[in-house]
Amino acid sequence: MTAIRPLVAGNWKMNGLSGSLSELAALRKRVDAAPVPQADAMMCPPATLLTGARDVLEGSSILLGAQDCHSLPSGAHTGDISAEMLADAGATAVIVGHSERRIDHGETDALVHAKALAAYRAGLTAIICVGETEAQYRDGKTLDVLRSQLEGSVPEGARAVNTVVAYEPVWAIGTGLTPTPPEVAQVHGLIRSVLGQRLGDSEAGATRILYGGSVKPANAAELLFVPDVNGALVGGASLKADDFYEILAVY
Ligand code: PGA
Repeated sequence: MTAIRPLVAGNWKMNGLSGSLSELAALRKRVDAAPVPQADAMMCPPATLLTGARDVLEGSSILLGAQDCHSLPSGAHTGDISAEMLADAGATAVIVGHSERRIDHGETDALVHAKALAAYRAGLTAIICVGETEAQYRDGKTLDVLRSQLEGSVPEGARAVNTVVAYEPVWAIGTGLTPTPPEVAQVHGLIRSVLGQRLGDSEAGATRILYGGSVKPANAAELLFVPDVNGALVGGASLKADDFYEILAVY
């Protein structure tokens, strides 16, 4: 099996006005000056900044992603944005099923599944997020929860070229807490085996499985070299160019 090329993706969430594109410009400058050829870098700003970010990143190796999409291509859905619109604005990927959307907007596995299909329809990579809550973790239900989320959220037609899975324990997001490396290894191994059952071993073996939740420069090396971890989804630390670059540069 060929080695999987890691991906470090930043998720700005609902942070950043147009002025914060200067952080993206600073990141681009750092990557241009000292490229990290062993890994892909991606930034997912709010939808309002996509076209501005596309301009900042023109000609750069840093990829552009979005944070959510509607499942339909167009229509009477006030306030929503389709995957096709994201592609038109310059995105090549979209995060679907982030726990903040599952919690804030009641998104179900079935909806996340539909959004992943929408991403494929528009030619985007779907970054499908899964993760257990603190109570589920405490009750020892992590593996069962993840299996069920993956079975409900990852389309049968998913392929390694258009799909990334991000494991983000809800209790680790924005808290400074992280699972131990052996816990991460166990979960990522389970994710790969469930993907194997659904997509076949060859696609599963080539699919990137990211870890997300309080990834910082200080813990990146410890988390990103765990077996079956193929990169990171970075929230808070993606808002500062220097922090994000330091995480990318562990590769
Ligand atoms: P965090 O967020 O890095 O701020 O914990 C990660 C995420 O939610 O993607």
